[in-house]
Amino acid sequence: MLSGIGRLALATAFPREYAEILGATQDESVRRAEETARFGLDHAQLSAELLQDWGLPDIFHQAVRHHESPADSPFDAGSRAQALTLALHFAARVGGLLNLDAAQRWEKVPSLYQAAAQIGLEDHEVPPLVERVIEQWRDWGQELRLPTRDFSDIKLLLTSPPEPNGDDPMAALVVLPMRVALVARDAKRLRALADTLDAMGLRVELATDPENALKRLNELQIDVMIVELPDSGEVSAHDLRDLRACESARQAYCIALIPAEAEAGVARLMLAGAADYLLRDHTEAALLARLNAAQRVMTLQSAVRAERESAIRSSGDWARSNRRLLREALTDPLTQVHNRRYGLDRFAQEWSFAQHNGTPLSCLMLDVDHFKRVNDRYGHETGDLVLTQVARLIERNCRKDDVVFRYGGEEFCVVGPNTGEREAVQLGERIVEAMRAARFGEDSRHFAVTMSIGVATRVEADREPEHLIARADKALYAAKAAGRDRVVATGRS
Ligand code: GH3
Ligand code: MG
Ligand code: MG
Repeated sequence: MLSGIGRLALATAFPREYAEILGATQDESVRRAEETARFGLDHAQLSAELLQDWGLPDIFHQAVRHHESPADSPFDAGSRAQALTLALHFAARVGGLLNLDAAQRWEKVPSLYQAAAQIGLEDHEVPPLVERVIEQWRDWGQELRLPTRDFSDIKLLLTSPPEPNGDDPMAALVVLPMRVALVARDAKRLRALADTLDAMGLRVELATDPENALKRLNELQIDVMIVELPDSGEVSAHDLRDLRACESARQAYCIALIPAEAEAGVARLMLAGAADYLLRDHTEAALLARLNAAQRVMTLQSAVRAERESAIRSSGDWARSNRRLLREALTDPLTQVHNRRYGLDRFAQEWSFAQHNGTPLSCLMLDVDHFKRVNDRYGHETGDLVLTQVARLIERNCRKDDVVFRYGGEEFCVVGPNTGEREAVQLGERIVEAMRAARFGEDSRHFAVTMSIGVATRVEADREPEHLIARADKALYAAKAAGRDRVVATGRS
């Protein structure tokens, strides 16, 4: 209930505007887009803001913020925040479903099961759960004196399509709130048709002549267009194509209103994009039948759209998790710099680039001085922390194109593309100095740690990357031998 508080807030603050949004569409994503357009934020965001303002723990308002489209949430798979978001998503599906009419409910059943699957509920577990929710809903409704609904057989309701309403078939024919555009030349006919549709409870968004329709249709989200074609027996398919082009994004269902004489030419109308036709002198029943067909097509279209969106979303999830796996496979878990596998791979690439293009390439081997003492004195955990801090320091002092990776233990490697010996030594000096100036460990016991660096720059005699690494290693050894805390380059020997 709290996750819907933003809706209540919007309805309280902007009763008229919000009623318009609620009346215009049942589609939640369209509603949210409309809310954002009118109020600058949607109801889910507003709910989250309110909960945050009231001091609820972060995890709650974050879950509320993302529960309507969990696929877009920033939470890690398997995290508590994600579990809560998905649970709320499922709960919202259950609540929404119970408040819908039979025809709309049927359309929403797949998304209910999908949401259930995301929190690990299997198909057969859903109906009994929904049944328990309904029981509690009824009890609370009595307690709070709020109306609730009765569902005789929830299992049947979730597994079979709705029965058409037997008492008054006409009344049951059109149930969705459709947005209709009327385009007619004859003002009187236009008025009469608009009145009829209005009496049926449909929203006439636009009633106008063809010239003005072209200009204004684009801005409106129309579900159905009823377009009157000219009197001449020869039906102008051209007009229709123009009008439909306006609505191509929404794929409005287009019904051509034609004189009886033109009925022989309806095939051309269909080719021009009309979905159906209606004679000018039609009965109300004929109009209803046409609108019913339109509604069915719309329902199917929106189901296809939802399915498509969910497929796209889940392929997004898939891509995201693959990306994460890939990143993990190439990253050192402790220091979050690249791991040796990635580093050596990149090294080989840079090597062949340098070889082909005759550009310089340098390699720096970096080793923390007396690191064993850090472990011995402060413990292994602090040692781990220091390694992470050292990795950050190295990265901070490198340039954008340098490749930094953990070579192993307390040893790092930097590959500098397009870097000659002088620049490589400068880079090494910068790091050694930054190490000297920095303090490591947890806040309470900051201490100094130094670093030795061996530098080697590619020469013709180096046949492969390993030769360069070996020379850098030798230089590192020389730096250690000379007293540590310094940079030594192999020179061109
Ligand atoms: P030197 O100046 O000669 O390099 O001395 P050193 O103590 O740094 O070198 P040595 O090779 O003797 O010891 C390296 C130490 O680094 C030993 C090892 O336990 C520690 N070490 C290696 N990997 C890790 C790690 O992931 N975490 C921690 N905490 N310690 C590590
Ligand atoms: Mg060391
Ligand atoms: Mg070492």
